[in-house]
Amino acid sequence: MADFTKHSFAKKNRMKTDVLLIGSGIMSSTLGAMLKELQPGLSIQLFEVSDRPSQEASNGWNNAGTGHAGICELSYTPHQEADGSVDVSKAISVFEDFEHSLQFWAYAARKGIIKDTKECINPLPHISLVHTEEQLPYLRARFEGLKKHHFFESMKHSSNREEIKSWAPLLVEGRDGNQPIAATHMEGGTDVNFGEISRNFCEWLDEQDDCETHFGHRVVDLEKKGKGWLVTVRDEVSREKRQVEAGFVFIGAGGGSLPLLQKSGIPEVKGYGGFPIGGQWMITRNPEVVKKHTAKVYGQALGAAPTMAVPHLDTRVIDGERSLLFGPFAAWTGKFLHNGGSHTDLPLSVRPSNIVSLMRVGIHNLDLVKYLVEQGLQSKSSRMQELYNFYPDAKDEDWEVIDAGIRVQAIKQEPGEEPGIVHYGTEVLTSEDLSISALLGASPGASVSTQVMLECIQRCLPELLESDEGKSRMSEMIPNWDQDLKISTARDRYFDIHQKAMADLNLT
Ligand SMILES: Cc1cc2nc3c(=O)[nH]c(=O)nc-3n(C[C@H](O)[C@H](O)[C@H](O)COP(=O)(O)OP(=O)(O)OC[C@H]3O[C@@H](n4cnc5c(N)ncnc54)[C@H](O)[C@@H]3O)c2cc1C
Repeated sequence: MADFTKHSFAKKNRMKTDVLLIGSGIMSSTLGAMLKELQPGLSIQLFEVSDRPSQEASNGWNNAGTGHAGICELSYTPHQEADGSVDVSKAISVFEDFEHSLQFWAYAARKGIIKDTKECINPLPHISLVHTEEQLPYLRARFEGLKKHHFFESMKHSSNREEIKSWAPLLVEGRDGNQPIAATHMEGGTDVNFGEISRNFCEWLDEQDDCETHFGHRVVDLEKKGKGWLVTVRDEVSREKRQVEAGFVFIGAGGGSLPLLQKSGIPEVKGYGGFPIGGQWMITRNPEVVKKHTAKVYGQALGAAPTMAVPHLDTRVIDGERSLLFGPFAAWTGKFLHNGGSHTDLPLSVRPSNIVSLMRVGIHNLDLVKYLVEQGLQSKSSRMQELYNFYPDAKDEDWEVIDAGIRVQAIKQEPGEEPGIVHYGTEVLTSEDLSISALLGASPGASVSTQVMLECIQRCLPELLESDEGKSRMSEMIPNWDQDLKISTARDRYFDIHQKAMADLNLT
């Protein structure tokens, strides 16, 4: 275990580095590990305000740990078309993006960058559940659309209670016999501890030549200097400030990214605002209940619920402890970070260039704001009502409410769009001269970190992928980085590299 309290940086007054990473979550740590493997000569410095890695959104307790592969999440295939079919293209492309993560983590396991795969990723069936008459044709049509593709050919669909009970007994026991239910089930899904993966990447990075990770160090300012950046960093213990010259800066500060981007003054950030959505879980550790459920079960969004607040009932394995989490329940918050945030984060992010977008969020998303306030004020018993849709026999005394992480959704008016639309996707903002890049938004999030960081390298540091050596190093890390595995002729190749990654990650 690395000594995350060390402050080696304090010894030096000024430092120069090729790459400066802000934050130690899954995004920055993935970029650090990928870059160093791609170009071993690079110097990399990573700065993190917390005293240890990945305490915000990527931490195991702060997110749902779903390896988003489009298997069970109904939000990627939201509705039936007029002809009764369901468009499954988004689910297929999310699956391929997650495949890139599986391959990169498998490479990291082979190279000893990830030390213990069981702490980072575990196999878990992914189930989608519907429980109203109106939802049944939708789930059937979604299944028929997905089943045709080689990514999803092992998926099963059933409306037979006994079969669904064999997949996940809690979904059926105690359920009203007149209530229609249907489910899809697929092996090959995962439960991921993104915080552990980030920790492994940070520890490894710190051991490499010309690379250091600095915990307890907050980036407080960024100023353009020549072709690169002069970054001011404050030691949170001594309060001393230091400056670092960097050729390329990546802001992977999660909820802290928008304020830092605003400080950089790059024109690309104009008009962007951040809209934080807090979260809470219900958790049970009762071993009798926990042992009866081994799956992630996703349902459908109800009313104004944002896609990331669609409830699911999940087996989680965090810090060696097995539990069931239900949620997340969304909540109104002004904070941009779970630990290091303040209720003034939202008002302080307001700028003349984004005030219109922010105000219109309130006006154009009244249903969403009302929903968030109501969710935050929800009593435990009304949360239990939602749980009964999944687990009719749930006992109030087995469950308690705990905090989840915060997602800061990006707000920006796109051409032809109503002002104040909340974007639920992940957005990478890059300066025109490609010297600084930042990640905003949080969905699908950690699962697509490898794909998002690959695109960041392709865009900002393309020279690293120009040589045959660069290409071959990247192919070793992500065998299909430059190939489309979605097309039908790629079926055999997909199964080949997928099986190898699953074996290396001990997921078979
Ligand atoms: C409730 C919830 C459920 C989710 N479920 C899933 C899921 O099931 N699957 C999935 O794939 N994704 C999920 N996500 C999304 C996922 O958690 C995020 O997309 C992902 O963790 C973001 O990683 P990051 O590295 O960008 O940010 P973070 O993990 O938040 O890391 C940012 C880091 O930057 C640091 N920092 C901030 N400001 C500064 C500064 N000024 N100087 C230095 N350091 C700074 C922070 O301390 C933090 O450690 C979920 C999110 C939430 C909130």
